[in-house]
Amino acid sequence: MPRSRPGASFDGYVQVRGAREHNLKNVDVDIPRNALVVFTGVSGSGKSSLAFGTLYAEAQRRYLESVSPYARRLFHQMAVPEVDSIDGLPPAVALQQQRGTPTTRSSVGSVSTLSNSLRMLYSRAGDYPRGQELLYAESFSPNTPQGACPQCHGLGRVYEATERSMVPDDSLTIRERAVAAWPTAWHGQNLRDILVTLGHDVDTPWRDLPKKTRDWILFTDEQPTVPVYAGLTPAEARRAHKRKETPSYQGTFTGARKYVLQTFAGTESALMKKRVAQYLVSMACPQCEGKRLRAEALSVRFAGYDITEIGRLPLRRLAQLLQPYADGGAVARKDAAKHPEKTIVAQRIAADLLARLAVLLDLGLGYLSLERGTPTLSPGELQRLRLATQVRSSLFGVVYVLDEPSAGLHPADTEALLRALDRLKAAGNSLFVVEHALEVIRHADWIVDVGPKAGQHGGQVLYSGAPAGLAKVAGSRTAQYLFGTEPRAERELRAAAGWLRLRGVVRNNLAGLDADFPLGVLTSVSGVSGSGKSSLVSQALVQLAQAQLGGGVVADADEGEASMEDVDSGVLQGRIGAGMDGVRRLVQVDQKPIGRTPRSNLATYTGLFDHVRKLFAATRSARARHFDAGRFSFNVAKGRCPHCSGEGFVMVELLFLPSVYAPCPECGGARYNPQTLAVRYREHNIAEVLSMTVDAAWEFFADEAPLRHALDVLRAVGLGYLRLGQPATELSGGEAQRIKLATELQRASRGDTLYVLDEPTTGLHPSDIDLLLQQLHGLVASGNTVIVVEHNVQVLAASDWVIDVGPGAGEEGGQIVAAGTPAEVATSAGSRTAPYLRRALE
Ligand code: ADP
Ligand code: ADP
Ligand code: ZN
Ligand code: ZN
Repeated sequence: MPRSRPGASFDGYVQVRGAREHNLKNVDVDIPRNALVVFTGVSGSGKSSLAFGTLYAEAQRRYLESVSPYARRLFHQMAVPEVDSIDGLPPAVALQQQRGTPTTRSSVGSVSTLSNSLRMLYSRAGDYPRGQELLYAESFSPNTPQGACPQCHGLGRVYEATERSMVPDDSLTIRERAVAAWPTAWHGQNLRDILVTLGHDVDTPWRDLPKKTRDWILFTDEQPTVPVYAGLTPAEARRAHKRKETPSYQGTFTGARKYVLQTFAGTESALMKKRVAQYLVSMACPQCEGKRLRAEALSVRFAGYDITEIGRLPLRRLAQLLQPYADGGAVARKDAAKHPEKTIVAQRIAADLLARLAVLLDLGLGYLSLERGTPTLSPGELQRLRLATQVRSSLFGVVYVLDEPSAGLHPADTEALLRALDRLKAAGNSLFVVEHALEVIRHADWIVDVGPKAGQHGGQVLYSGAPAGLAKVAGSRTAQYLFGTEPRAERELRAAAGWLRLRGVVRNNLAGLDADFPLGVLTSVSGVSGSGKSSLVSQALVQLAQAQLGGGVVADADEGEASMEDVDSGVLQGRIGAGMDGVRRLVQVDQKPIGRTPRSNLATYTGLFDHVRKLFAATRSARARHFDAGRFSFNVAKGRCPHCSGEGFVMVELLFLPSVYAPCPECGGARYNPQTLAVRYREHNIAEVLSMTVDAAWEFFADEAPLRHALDVLRAVGLGYLRLGQPATELSGGEAQRIKLATELQRASRGDTLYVLDEPTTGLHPSDIDLLLQQLHGLVASGNTVIVVEHNVQVLAASDWVIDVGPGAGEEGGQIVAAGTPAEVATSAGSRTAPYLRRALE
């Protein structure tokens, strides 16, 4: 393949010497500027350590040194990279995918700044009702006091606690905890005791109490403080009160609604928030009807829409609507003669909006709306949104560092992504991209291939140069896939053992869809981004199946923050017509982090640490000291280092500088106290075991069958390079997903389980995808059903059945375009997936 640019036109090189971040092995490499450079290699080989951990981190550090110490604190902190020198490095902008869920309440409109321009458009060129004064642009924002609806404060929804939501079972008495919304344990008991003092009947079923009593208990804002006689019956308490006996304590009453709302708004604990959220119901704000703005702002229209309505249109429709205004004069405005300046303003702003929308449409995001909240976007969508915003900015001479920008993109949309990257390059920038997608790698001017394997078996630059030259690099896994030297295994397709039939599914862009999923086989659900794959599989199928199994879904212990979204999970309609008798269990394996603190790690999450701790407790020296298994947990006070509380590092606050984490001076990062570390199992202490990689531990524990099995499956999903004690916070989404998969594989295979995976190939090199496929086929072979949402043609081609959703995105999607064996779908006329699948099957 010819190079798109002769090497001579590169604008010099970035010269890296002695890079040692994470697993990098003293790497020297020269990388051209003003070029599209793709970093390749198997997962865990060290691509990100080079692109982000070294190059971007160093650029960031230099930038921070040039700004004031005060500004420095405001930036995301990054450690100083381990590298001898880097010359010729321009300033860098990272467009990295967020690990974990984004928490900010931003929207597509705010991230792209399109909302600002739209507000200007309404302010200056909108149609105002007769006699109404012009409004400033801020008055069209629900996030300003001038704009926000006074009743819902710009949220669009109001959250209420109702009798039904707080008293789910009204046949219970107060003593039996009819008021489920009240706190559990002693505080709830306290509130019930107070009701006794106040003379309420706590032994009559809730529904038989007078409405006045029920309303007072639930909705009063009064907070009387009364003497409480704990443990007495109502009659005894009354007598004691009359006799002026000394009460157990003084208790203050709080109505259930007040308790729920206060806790929801005020608590710091995610768990508490989640608990009370289930007693709230949300409804559209009655005043603004969910539009979040004051009436004056909503009365201003453009092209017949108020600003909220226009913000709900798919971007593609918004662009169509603005086109005639941008062209100028195409639409004769009623008042054009009276207000010629309005026409000019409308034309200017519309033209600017259109140019920026064009990039978003190009990147395959035309199905999104401005109003769409960023927490509901996938990491790939969010990254492309930010990329589009950059393409329109006029920066030049910077390096953009990107992390798998093709994630979540259908091959048909990848073309547009490449055009956007080319535009950034043409504007005089450099692009450093970590990528696995072969289409992107083929488009590179330069490839830096890292490997040969993962972790300590990687960390070397195998090749740095034009793509064609990689073909000759023998040890490169990338070369084998890029140049098609990897032989494809022939395989027999499995036949369905039954059918799971979904009927009348309504969700997002699915409007009454019927879909049939074969049981006992590996099915891929494909389609362009936004076509409705996730809505169908990860949402509708999972929730409907879960409902039938009676909450039998096994997801990871959800430690996510409760938010308004938990109260309001959106519309879902539909039913499962048949097939659930063949499914006994549902397991969703997603990319959510396995924990948010360094206290959870690979070993604790998979449960293998329990075995390890038992082995230590069974040693002679542990028994002599009376140490039990708990002693070997860094979460338990008796065994851990008291200085860092078992974290292994301490935060050092620096005046005027970002605070840094440093290894704990007491334990040196070992996490345990010296007494615990004195215990050795086959000459290794517990801290040393935690720092072993999975591969090393597999050899070390060769005789321990249960451990060996757990480690086997981790190796089988390609995670042999991870350390047992690797904190959850250091793991990528793809690694987290494979850990979950391994944990699942480690359970005895019982069959009759339905596994659902959403884009499991994110972050995976083609050779890792082959490993993953082997595992998925293994699950099917032992009698289970696997359904994956995927674009990756390597996975589609290896499936037994393919369901293609589309044809387009958003309202142009939501249908089943084709369903059948991969070969059948590959020949379907209307499918945008078919041409790519055809090529993969050749
Ligand atoms: P890739 O981007 O090629 O998937 P990474 O650069 O993320 O690989 O990881 C390379 C190696 O460095 C892996 O062994 C990984 O576990 C390790 N690693 C990644 N991040 C950290 C970190 N924050 N601390 C320690 N080790 C890390
Ligand atoms: P895919 O998985 O094929 O990329 P999705 O099922 O995520 O597609 O999305 C299908 C449609 O539903 C798109 O128009 C998308 O914008 C919309 N959608 C998805 N999730 C949400 C949500 N949480 N809120 C509003 N719209 C959504
Ligand atoms: Zn409102
Ligand atoms: Zn310590």
